[in-house]
Amino acid sequence: MLISVKGLDDERYERPLRLIANLFFEETEIDMGGDDGSLEVVFTLTGETDVKAKAVLTIKESGEQFVAHYEKRITADQEKEYFKSLKNVVSHVYLHVLHEYTGIVQKWGILTGIRPTKLLHRQNQAGVPTEVAHRQLQENYLMTAEKTDLMQRILERQLAIVPDLYDLKKEVSIYIGIPFCPTKCAYCTFPAFAIQGKQERVSSFLSGLHFEMEAIGRWLKEKGVRITTVYYGGGTPTAITAEEMDELYELMYQVFPDVEKIREITVEAGRPDTITQAKLDVLKKWKIDRISINPQSYTQETLKAIGRHHTVEETIDKYHLARENGMNNINMDLIIGLPGEGCEEFKHSLDETEKLMPESLTVHTLSFKRASEMTQNKEKYKVADRSEVEQMMGMAERWTKDHGYVPYYLYRQKNILGNLENVGYCMPGQESIYNIVIMEEVQTIIGIGCGAASKFIDPNTGKIEHFANPKDPKTYNERFEEYTNKKIAILNELFK
Ligand code: SF4
Repeated sequence: MLISVKGLDDERYERPLRLIANLFFEETEIDMGGDDGSLEVVFTLTGETDVKAKAVLTIKESGEQFVAHYEKRITADQEKEYFKSLKNVVSHVYLHVLHEYTGIVQKWGILTGIRPTKLLHRQNQAGVPTEVAHRQLQENYLMTAEKTDLMQRILERQLAIVPDLYDLKKEVSIYIGIPFCPTKCAYCTFPAFAIQGKQERVSSFLSGLHFEMEAIGRWLKEKGVRITTVYYGGGTPTAITAEEMDELYELMYQVFPDVEKIREITVEAGRPDTITQAKLDVLKKWKIDRISINPQSYTQETLKAIGRHHTVEETIDKYHLARENGMNNINMDLIIGLPGEGCEEFKHSLDETEKLMPESLTVHTLSFKRASEMTQNKEKYKVADRSEVEQMMGMAERWTKDHGYVPYYLYRQKNILGNLENVGYCMPGQESIYNIVIMEEVQTIIGIGCGAASKFIDPNTGKIEHFANPKDPKTYNERFEEYTNKKIAILNELFK
């Protein structure tokens, strides 16, 4: 979809207009000042303080028009702040005409950011009364009360489980990336390499990882910085052998400060085909009891279609095995919108989940972009349309509520049709603290290992700096030392 935009002579509008249009149409492009779009939106802005905005959307082919008006008082004196407010005014009329034209209601309004709950936390921290905060969010972003209520419930859950959430800046969490999996899934965008026949590469990766853990652990001890949570992700951290896992966790206990006091250690055991009795013994030995076993779907054909070489029975069997071995905080991931899946298959997945009742259930939505890539193989896959995806999201919401789960974190996907969200549900009290701290960006996360992204948050200013380790094991193996030193240099600046 190409949209011609007239009346705005600032290129900075291009991005927000494109992001909002992407909530309605697939892969929109904005033609600033041009005439080639199949839709044309003409904006008129008048006034400096009392700004009046008008947008007229014209369907080029038929000439049919839709009109929206909005007025707002802008008091900001800084150019940047003034432009931000102006952008908000433009977004209001733009959303309205797109809504009129498509008939689609955007429950998140003009908000395209991926962490909406952060906005509510900010208000809460500033002491803004709940009702006022909700009203402001609804007015500023045109979001519905349904969404502000959801955010409120999530905020309350998060503060119940982490009462000192706003004071965690002086601590850090650690993410450890292990980039291997038994096979690579079709939809995967993570750093994940099929492990078969790569033992040499795995071994040299692990020695690089050990080096990083030792160096970061030393730094933490020297500076007296505590660790809030540790998360082993990837890839599939249980794709390595039981012996390699044992060595890794032993090292963690040796080099990280006060491991007994770490609030939570999670290991993703995403692929059930990697879980063995020996590996569960290792997890138990090192007191790791939060794991993730990810079915994604309980329909065998779907697993085959997405390249997950394990059976549905294997997921269920490994879940029971983990339970028998004392794993008492198990997360399971489901994905809405996998190829070939609609409400019927999703209901089946929920029915199967009911038999297991994991402590948490994370419901992801497969992006439409990806789904549209899959539609290139239309004869092979049926891909759910937007309204069916919404129905499935509603099913997940109702099912979790009926079964005693509560939503405790959410994030939205950027640039994706349908304004979708991913929601983490759990039994009250079983929230993953790591998921909360990473989503709400309340503290530094040090990423160690392959593809691990670090997010450095200045404890004083809150300024965020990103830093990514190499994604492929070969580059990682060659340069882990250099990357470790760079991270330590950043940490030294932040924690003086
Ligand atoms: S198991 Fe997860 S990380 Fe591994 S290939 Fe599949 S989606 Fe990617």
